[in-house]
Amino acid sequence: MTPTLHPRLLNGRAGDPAVFVEAMHAPGAVLFDCGDLSALSTGHLLRVELLGVSHAHMDHWADFDRLLRPLIGREKTLQLVGPEGFAARLHHRLAGYTWNLVDRIPADLVFEVTEAGAAPPFPRARFRLHTGFAREDLPPVTPEADGTLLRLGRLGLRAAPLDHGTPSLGFALAEDVHLNLWRTRLAERGLPTGPWLATLKRAVAEGLPDDHPVPVFARALEAAGAPVQPLGALRELVVATPGQRVAYLTDFADTPANRAVAVELARGADTLFVEAPFLAADAAIAAERMHLTTTAAGEIARAAGVRRVEPFHLSPRYLGREAEWLAEIEAAFGRPLNPQAA
Ligand SMILES: [Zn+2]
Ligand SMILES: [Zn+2]
Repeated sequence: MTPTLHPRLLNGRAGDPAVFVEAMHAPGAVLFDCGDLSALSTGHLLRVELLGVSHAHMDHWADFDRLLRPLIGREKTLQLVGPEGFAARLHHRLAGYTWNLVDRIPADLVFEVTEAGAAPPFPRARFRLHTGFAREDLPPVTPEADGTLLRLGRLGLRAAPLDHGTPSLGFALAEDVHLNLWRTRLAERGLPTGPWLATLKRAVAEGLPDDHPVPVFARALEAAGAPVQPLGALRELVVATPGQRVAYLTDFADTPANRAVAVELARGADTLFVEAPFLAADAAIAAERMHLTTTAAGEIARAAGVRRVEPFHLSPRYLGREAEWLAEIEAAFGRPLNPQAA
């Protein structure tokens, strides 16, 4: 299957963490963390529609202004998701500038912030350029049954706090199921192609019962009075392929509670971006700094059954030892980190 989600680590394995995710089917991009966005062009920055910030340590949040600057003068709503108290941090950040002449700028820029805390409902707030980014509280939000907190087109975002001495959000981005038609089966059964197939796909996607009637017709003008077949007899025409999944997990201590949350977010991910700042021999330092070791990162990836692992947040103390570092993660994962490269 052709990958439709294209996530990339912006600053290499040792740079400030940031992952930019593009989807083939939509112009909007998703960004996780913004400690250093110098790798993104203005064109890329303008496409960001959803920004997830794990926590407000500088290496994850310092370069927000690089995203903010080109957005001034654009009509745009940007969704932000951060940990508890994040709306106030964004507010302080925006209050660091003077906005007295913004009423001369015709386009309004809107930030909508969701704070993913320990338990829903999650507080939301809005800040708009035209009010000088005064805080407006929005109704709190409760995630969908599967944990989806926000949707961007065909992408759903989940977020959950991990303990890093402060809450640090882990993120999972999942594409909706793809529904494809089995054209040969359609031909074998002598059924026409046409707009009715969209209705059929929608009925499958919505999980309607087998006795749900589906009208079969070739042209829109034949819809009224078209012969009807029960959904159960037509299901074999639609093939459901799971969408792609990307998880981003950074800055958390190796505790059983954190592992459980991390594995749940990363389960079945096509690509897991996971921090692994310290070598296994430095587990005591990792514990003291509330970060993972290579072993912990690899074990989390294995427990979650992910396909590909992209480790990052390598501590600068290991300069020149990247091969050794990768080997430790791979040993704990039990397979090549990148099956395509192997
Ligand atoms: Zn960090
Ligand atoms: Zn941190």
